[in-house]
Amino acid sequence: MDITAGLLRDAAERSIRYLDTIGARSVVPTPLAIANLAGFDEPLADSGAPAAEVLACLDRLGSPATVASAGGRFFGFVTGGALPATVAANWLAAAWDQEGGMWASSPASVAIEATAHRWLIELIGLPDGTASAFVTGATVANLTALAAARSAVLAAAGWDVEADGLIGAPPLTVLVGAEVHPTVRKGLGILGLGRNRAVEVETDRQGRIRPDRIPRITGPTIVCTQVGNVNSGAADPVAAVCDRVHPDGAWVHVDGAFGLWARAAESTRGQVLGVERADSWATDAHKWLNVPYDSGLAFVRRGELLRRAMALTAAYLPVATGRQPDHYTPELSRRARGVEVWAALRFLGRAGVADLVERCCRHARRFAAGLAAAGHRVMNDVVLNQVVVNFGSPEVNDAIVAAVQADGECWCGATTWRGERAMRISVSSWATTDQDVERSLTAILDAARRCGASR
Ligand SMILES: *Cc1c(COP(=O)(O)O)cnc(C)c1O
Repeated sequence: MDITAGLLRDAAERSIRYLDTIGARSVVPTPLAIANLAGFDEPLADSGAPAAEVLACLDRLGSPATVASAGGRFFGFVTGGALPATVAANWLAAAWDQEGGMWASSPASVAIEATAHRWLIELIGLPDGTASAFVTGATVANLTALAAARSAVLAAAGWDVEADGLIGAPPLTVLVGAEVHPTVRKGLGILGLGRNRAVEVETDRQGRIRPDRIPRITGPTIVCTQVGNVNSGAADPVAAVCDRVHPDGAWVHVDGAFGLWARAAESTRGQVLGVERADSWATDAHKWLNVPYDSGLAFVRRGELLRRAMALTAAYLPVATGRQPDHYTPELSRRARGVEVWAALRFLGRAGVADLVERCCRHARRFAAGLAAAGHRVMNDVVLNQVVVNFGSPEVNDAIVAAVQADGECWCGATTWRGERAMRISVSSWATTDQDVERSLTAILDAARRCGASR
């Protein structure tokens, strides 16, 4: 037991040192740190090593070669940070080593998750009776919700897709916005609905679905909307989409991987009004709620439909009385990921979540204003936490992105949006301060000057 205590203290100390010094290092690992990763490429040993040595090796070779996304100056891919309260909860929950899918294997996990579920429904403002699935990320959350959608619209046409599959099923139409996230298409492919069969609906200049361009609907239909376009941050007019397709019995799904959190703050809620009228939603806790990775959420308005798509029966498994998470997720065994969601909400409260969202949006507006003041072209209306800036030719844009990344002061990614090459800034971490924004802005403007941006 002493060995365990020493080992876990060592892990805590190494983690603390890592996070304490993250602001002082380059956001991208140095070439030397990358080269040292070759140290992991050893033959599998016959006999094991002491646990302390295993951890030391991980810290020596691994820590320097991480991307400093836990710091305040990483602005790529809508990557949220992890609040210290959630990292700590994650450590304790790892020590518990609970199988979070069943009450029998973890009453603690199931109860904590039930509370997190109730708080989320309240915070996001989803209807009573909504069921949730705590899954790995928005990709699987979209997949999970769309499985319920597929089940429901085919059941309404007299077909049991869980029992009988898709072969011989009535045709099912899927509509997506022209700027649908590729993971939604991937989910459609996995569900046998086809990545490329979905009918694209035209979008406007901010990437929002145009409800007036939705074709006439007949038969089983799923309409995939999005709140939080990965480039512009804009939200589809979900209420108008519901007005248009609900009378014909279509299912409306919302991919709100980061944008659904706009529901939690007064100043952004106006953009996502009426989103509660949809039939299912997907979001990521590991993005804007700032919990550690591996934390997505699927919500389905009529909970029994999610359960129909995901329920599992087996003779050796206990029959659930209360909430049994594994009846709502693709997985059976899984980690107790609801613990970190609970910890984030318990730590932040309503006001804290709103403040996190609003702070990131304010930082994004500051980036946009600073870039525009220097004569650069911001392509999107900066309504949320996303900024898309175009510095000129595709070559110049790519050179600036490469220079920003190589400098290591901050990290922004490249994108192609509305046919133009550009740089994308996504502010999604609790850790980003005003100072981080100013320092990053200076680095970006400096790179733009060096690389000959047109202004
Ligand atoms: C990030 C994102 C996804 C995918 O989420 P993962 O957590 O990476 O699986 C899907 N849709 C949108 C709009 C996203 O921003």
